[in-house]
Amino acid sequence: MSLAGEFGCGPAMKGMPSGGFNRDFHNPSYITVALHGGSNIIDQDINPYVDQWEAEGIFPAHKVFKLLGNAGFLGVNKPVEYGGLGLDFSYSIAVSEELGNIRCGGIPMAIGVQTDMATPALARFGSTELKKEFLLPSIMGDKVACLGVSEVGAGSDVATIKTNAVREGDEYVVNGGKMWTTNGTQADWMCLLANTSDSPSHKNKSLICLPMNSPGVHIARKIDNMGMRSSDTAEVFFDDVRMPCKNLIGQEGMGFTYQMLQFQEERLWACSNILTMMDNIIQETIQYTRQRKIFKMPVLYHQSVHFRLAELETEIELLRSLLHRSTALYIKCNDVTKLASMAKLKAGRLSREVGDSCLQYWGGMGFTSNVLVSRFYRDARLLSIGGGADEVMLSIICKYMDTLPKK
Ligand SMILES: Cc1cc2nc3c(=O)[nH]c(=O)nc-3n(C[C@H](O)[C@H](O)[C@H](O)COP(=O)(O)OP(=O)(O)OC[C@H]3O[C@@H](n4cnc5c(N)ncnc54)[C@H](O)[C@@H]3O)c2cc1C
Repeated sequence: MSLAGEFGCGPAMKGMPSGGFNRDFHNPSYITVALHGGSNIIDQDINPYVDQWEAEGIFPAHKVFKLLGNAGFLGVNKPVEYGGLGLDFSYSIAVSEELGNIRCGGIPMAIGVQTDMATPALARFGSTELKKEFLLPSIMGDKVACLGVSEVGAGSDVATIKTNAVREGDEYVVNGGKMWTTNGTQADWMCLLANTSDSPSHKNKSLICLPMNSPGVHIARKIDNMGMRSSDTAEVFFDDVRMPCKNLIGQEGMGFTYQMLQFQEERLWACSNILTMMDNIIQETIQYTRQRKIFKMPVLYHQSVHFRLAELETEIELLRSLLHRSTALYIKCNDVTKLASMAKLKAGRLSREVGDSCLQYWGGMGFTSNVLVSRFYRDARLLSIGGGADEVMLSIICKYMDTLPKK
């Protein structure tokens, strides 16, 4: 069975309605279908406060998630019996693209962690009881989720994490710590990757739902990041944290595999989200450079400027095609690990180029912190590092090309 098939990713998961939306990958408008409510929330309840939340270094996740949860945006491809809409993953991609209209990267990332990074494995492999306790309230916007994979000593090399969850009777006792945890200071629960046995490193890990208010969970600090300022990123320690073994997601020892599957959705989601942001940056740059005159004509009318923007726009459209192709294959249960890795790699690199070129054309204004282009320049830098660095994507692509040195 393909990885994607194992993930149960088909067009509307088994037993779920396919919804009343008309999805058509040949018609780019599929991505905006039914998202009018999302635009209202973004325009009225999020964007007017973004500058304040960026300055404060945190946004009110519970308040914002409740608004999105009420509107149905936190579980578009999650089972209807847990409050989701039961649609396929292409609708999650559509929501991600719409969320790219938020005027910063930090808040969309926090929402993406909730919808497409910390919850896919729970939705597919979790027990009914676990889904009622953690998935349903996350879809409703009553609980904030975070994902605990990276550690101080293990980021790219996930297999080397050190956090342990040791069975004692019907409880796990967790010791260790997680680093770079998005939503970490506000989260109600963590989708935790921990070692649960001494087996080889790809077979000794499990995903566990860990309530963040458990005794022994310590938020060590909120990390001061150069970008994604409104998103709270935390370092978390676990000191003899006890939780019931029933909090295990799926099978013990399958955590590494589940996490690798979960990463595919995270990477496609991130690509979709940054596409809208890049579109917006190009449009704002066109507007600015059209009215700003240098040497008796608009900056935009200098050929090096409009040609460069045309080149970037072309690259963006190519990336969009790759994303749509990957998503179309994914919802038909194909293994898209190679394509998703290519999309993530290209999204990271292209967003750096878009940010750098566009900021240049804003001149000194681009160097101020109160324009979108400079925020994008800082925020988008994360994409080549987080959720698997560019080099990790290249390694995965090489693995599929069978070009890695033999061990
Ligand atoms: C703002 C932010 C939010 C985050 N949110 C979360 C979260 O919610 N949950 C979570 O679990 N993690 C999160 N992360 C962690 C993120 O996924 C890691 O930072 C990322 O996986 C890289 O790991 P690392 O930082 O340990 O870098 P390292 O693993 O130390 O890698 C350093 C560099 O080595 C290079 N490299 C990697 N592999 C190779 C290779 N094979 N060949 C050559 N060079 C290579 C890359 O350039 C990489 O950037 C977040 C990080 C940030 C900064």
